[in-house]
Amino acid sequence: MPDLRSVDEHLASILAATTPSPAVELPLLDALDLAAAEDVVATIRLPRFDNSAMDGYAVHSADVAAAADRAPVTLPVIGEIGAGQAESGVHDLPPGSAAKIMTGAPMPAGADTVVPYEWTDRGATEVTITRAAAPRQHVRFAGEDVATGDLVVEAGTALGPRHLGLLASLGRPSVLVRPRPRVLVVSTGSELRDPGEELDADSIYDGNSYLLSGSVRRAGGVASRVGLVPDRPQAFLDALAERLPETDVVVTSGGISMGDYDVVKEALLSVGTVWFGGLAMQPGKPQGFGHLVTPDAPGRRVPFFALPGNPVSSYLSFEVFVRPALRRMLGLTPETRRPVTARLTHAVTSPPGRRQFLRGVVTVGPDGTTVTEVEPVGGSGSHLVGDLAASDALIVVPEDVTAVAAGERVTVIRLDQD
Ligand code: AMP
Ligand code: MG
Repeated sequence: MPDLRSVDEHLASILAATTPSPAVELPLLDALDLAAAEDVVATIRLPRFDNSAMDGYAVHSADVAAAADRAPVTLPVIGEIGAGQAESGVHDLPPGSAAKIMTGAPMPAGADTVVPYEWTDRGATEVTITRAAAPRQHVRFAGEDVATGDLVVEAGTALGPRHLGLLASLGRPSVLVRPRPRVLVVSTGSELRDPGEELDADSIYDGNSYLLSGSVRRAGGVASRVGLVPDRPQAFLDALAERLPETDVVVTSGGISMGDYDVVKEALLSVGTVWFGGLAMQPGKPQGFGHLVTPDAPGRRVPFFALPGNPVSSYLSFEVFVRPALRRMLGLTPETRRPVTARLTHAVTSPPGRRQFLRGVVTVGPDGTTVTEVEPVGGSGSHLVGDLAASDALIVVPEDVTAVAAGERVTVIRLDQD
């Protein structure tokens, strides 16, 4: 048996060959969930100007200091200030007067507090105030939230809705980010049919391109499925050549084991830029990784992942090798999911010298987050898509372990969670 390459070594070689994608400026909403590729510094203050936090009256606090239910203070109202209506509003407030002011409207010069409507008779030409407003009350001060020059988003931050809101508030229509990799997903196999088509006696539906395309999307990439590719090397090469110019990463399934019709291997082994071999893992032993070059763009090297055809192997291989590479291209961290440990409910066995990834279902403790137990689902067969869909975690059994008893703690990777 030829030497098997270790999982860690394979992942390390993939990551060593993978760099963050060149940054592009995208409109804010297209940047959701992407990593910022710039340090964003505020060029304006937030709030931009001192403004009212309430609907009420802007006054000099000294004028209303004595106001009380039994000693109301009455002031002339010299005008009104609405948000966005500063033009027509009051710009300077002389002592002994009040100006009606709406939430968000700029404070007139001289005024240092706002008396909310609730403490007044809401008068239009004169207002009677029954409660003292302390200096600076109900005023939002310029720059108290964000000062000009503040670093508001650090490069590498995954941009969520709150970041987009802040960037927009600062006047940014777009932001520099690492773009979503365009991933070509190719299912190979003459036995495959698209869902919805008729099946022959010996054909099966192509589950993998959905499994993998969904995984690509979840990882942050843009997946495009190629129509099914039969086990003819030229058909495979043609399908690739046609799409390669608009592709950042290629992921194929099937056609890389030791059979007679291993189309991916047959088509690409002679090209010499793709490594094919066996990994010390189960499932997922046969793998290929390398780069494709496109004649139209010399120097452009497109990462190429040849994943095994068995659905569970394909999915696992994506999880373990492709997802971290896509996240590196996206500039997102952590690149690999954070493992946790949990108590194994039932004993499992594992082949020597292989890292086994079993499917499992986790139980979460009363705090809603801590994984307490993991139960193995189904067997180790790499064709068991029903069990795969029923699982929400992978149980990792290290290379040097061949049996784990019920009740022991094991490493668990929760799928669908960073
Ligand atoms: P292969 O690696 O091409 O020899 O495929 C291994 C096994 O996975 C075979 O039983 C295939 O029929 C099955 N398989 C390959 N590709 C797919 C696919 N896209 N969807 C479902 N099963 C597949
Ligand atoms: Mg095949």
